[in-house]
Amino acid sequence: MNVPFVDLKLQYQSIKPQIDAAIENVITETAFIGGKYVNQFEKDFQNLYGVKHCISCANGTDSLYIIMKMLGIGKNDEVITVANSWISSSETISQTGATPVFIDIDENYYSINEQLIEQKITSKTKAIMPVHLQGQMCAIDVISNICKKHNLFLIEDCAQSHLSEYKNVRAGLTGIAASFSFYPGKNLGAYGDAGCIITNDDMLAEKCKMYARHGALIKHQHKMEGINSRLDGLQAAILSAKLPYLIKWTEQRIAAAAAYTDALKNINEIVTPLVRPQSKHTYHLYVIRAKQRNDLAKHLKDNGVETAIHYPIPLPFMEAYQYLNYSNSDFPVSNLYKDEILSLPIFPEITTQQINYVAQQIKAFYSK
Ligand SMILES: *Cc1c(COP(=O)(O)O)cnc(C)c1O
Repeated sequence: MNVPFVDLKLQYQSIKPQIDAAIENVITETAFIGGKYVNQFEKDFQNLYGVKHCISCANGTDSLYIIMKMLGIGKNDEVITVANSWISSSETISQTGATPVFIDIDENYYSINEQLIEQKITSKTKAIMPVHLQGQMCAIDVISNICKKHNLFLIEDCAQSHLSEYKNVRAGLTGIAASFSFYPGKNLGAYGDAGCIITNDDMLAEKCKMYARHGALIKHQHKMEGINSRLDGLQAAILSAKLPYLIKWTEQRIAAAAAYTDALKNINEIVTPLVRPQSKHTYHLYVIRAKQRNDLAKHLKDNGVETAIHYPIPLPFMEAYQYLNYSNSDFPVSNLYKDEILSLPIFPEITTQQINYVAQQIKAFYSK
């Protein structure tokens, strides 16, 4: 049996008429940049989250950068983020001129350890950017209180946490602004790059929108220099066509994860994902920790099961951050888990047979 890591083709086939119509409309109407379909998607996403503003961007990296830049974060500032994430979370901090300050991950839930944040706050700290990794939210209530106490901006990286919740509050609704990615493999994925910012702050929303569109809200009226970070009409129309299915797809991911956790119980060599109490984990990734991880991954690959590692090298240990002079002991949990974590295939259309097959293969590996 073959179990791909994700299967974007199956999803397309399940809604082909809607997607094809969306694409055809954009082309027939030549609504390529800006215009009706982009405005519609912004409205759709805004409504889904019940927020005042959704500003679409070219991708979920620009959205982080634009938020920080428009909050005035820059040279001589520090922004706190997590040691285990995709590099967008930290490279955008550097892009503003500020310095990323990394915090180790929580040993149970794999996202920023909120207990370690306060000791890293200095007079230069301007913001905290937690990442709701894998689909599970950080302890955002605790982090929000730390931000209030120290007068810091809270910016949520929700690239992996569409519709995730903690204590009945969705990811993206606690901080001053949140960033979403619609990279094709994300829980809501475009057919190319796409991202957005959500916020309830009118002034920040206007600035972000302006900055992402060359500093002009009205053509040729550039109030400042900006960047070109527009969502294109094709991606917007595709996203609007997919949006009505996001809740269903999320439930399917949650069901798939439950099936995995059940099928994988009683295997002493692995640890299945722990869900924080009162948390709705939306399983962008289903990450286990495994003894002999590399050999297990090879065994699975040899038997048709594709896996991945998110992420093989924690950010502070990347060559890009050598200048910060961190050592392994600064991030003991990230350092330990980087050799144990393994992301198993998960996508809404994954079948029970595929899940059971993966579980069987894992059992077979450890009983060799
Ligand atoms: C995917 C991702 C991003 C960046 O999104 P792009 O749309 O690929 O630019 C940012 N942060 C995290 C945690 C991500 O997983």
